[in-house]
Amino acid sequence: MKAFSFERVSSAQAAAARAAEVQGAKFIAGGTNLVDLMKLGIEAPTHLIDVSGLGLDRIEETGDGGLRIGAMVSNTALSADARIRRDYPVLTRAIAAGASGQLRNKATTGGNLLQRTRCPYFYDTAQACNKRVPGSGCSALTEGAFSRQLGVIGTSDACIATHPSDMAVAMRVLDATVETVTPTGLTRRIPLEEFHLLPGDTPERETALMPGELITAVTLPAPVGGSQRYHKVRDRASYAFALVSVALIRQADGSGRVALGGVAPRPWRLAAADAELPNGAQAVMARLFEGARPTEETQFKITLAERTLAALLLEE
Ligand SMILES: Cc1cc2nc3c(=O)[nH]c(=O)nc-3n(C[C@H](O)[C@H](O)[C@H](O)COP(=O)(O)OP(=O)(O)OC[C@H]3O[C@@H](n4cnc5c(N)ncnc54)[C@H](O)[C@@H]3O)c2cc1C
Ligand code: SF4
Repeated sequence: MKAFSFERVSSAQAAAARAAEVQGAKFIAGGTNLVDLMKLGIEAPTHLIDVSGLGLDRIEETGDGGLRIGAMVSNTALSADARIRRDYPVLTRAIAAGASGQLRNKATTGGNLLQRTRCPYFYDTAQACNKRVPGSGCSALTEGAFSRQLGVIGTSDACIATHPSDMAVAMRVLDATVETVTPTGLTRRIPLEEFHLLPGDTPERETALMPGELITAVTLPAPVGGSQRYHKVRDRASYAFALVSVALIRQADGSGRVALGGVAPRPWRLAAADAELPNGAQAVMARLFEGARPTEETQFKITLAERTLAALLLEE
């Protein structure tokens, strides 16, 4: 690991201002992803700004009946919160399906949204990877590459990685909004739909955050009710990232919403696919995977996603 300096600041705005001011600075929250990447030499921040003592660890009710979740709320605290369990059960289920108990105790709401891809070539510094070293190529797209864990939709010729977060898929189906503070002290509200960027020619640019911008909270709109489910399919029964995951909210009249994990560079949800829910899983997936470009190894994800949703619909 490369040497770095470390600092604690007294407010969210001070954290953002310092991050913009110090070349090579990064925030550290739970450290469960960043420190691993530093040990592997994939990330090499010169300066770490600890955001754990800024009072961003509360879940508060909003004026419009929703909830504002501080960026430092741990995954464990969020999934266990009585209001989340009662009104947003898809979120509790998604978080519980991710990582392990110990990791969830440290992992935070902000850090979870910003965790980086689990593409095996991104983690192997001997391999070309446009996300890690822009312009170096994409090893996952070479002949015979191992791409089973990678994406089928929203990908590009430069990168086919997926976003690995389970929590983000549930937040997407709930129409969450990311709240930030900029280095100049402005508050921005970014719908989760616009937060994670598609790779295009610049897979190294992963989110809509500007340099130094700090996530302060994620807000959930008022509860929408319905039956809420999250199902994650993976190679091992636990402690593995999703091959495919499905977040479903279904109302009594058959209408609802669907978001997918494990298939795209961001939680994958489309209004046109939501509209097909009364027509069944096949109709929803036909929309969600319109224009999909799977590799030979990821082709199975399209069928797997459809069968996972079909199984969830039968559970009703
Ligand atoms: C073995 C293992 C298995 C895992 N399995 C799963 C799984 O199945 N599903 C799943 O969803 N996740 C899984 N995870 C990932 C885990 O959920 C993430 O590592 C964690 O959520 C990241 O949160 P953190 O607070 O530790 O972030 P950190 O590691 O502290 O930070 C991650 C990134 O976010 C930035 N950051 C942190 N907070 C802020 C903020 N407030 N504003 C701006 N930038 C910020 C940091 O600079 C860094 O770039 C796994 C992790 C491990 C190690
Ligand atoms: S898929 Fe993306 S993350 Fe993986 S090697 Fe290619 S560029 Fe890198």
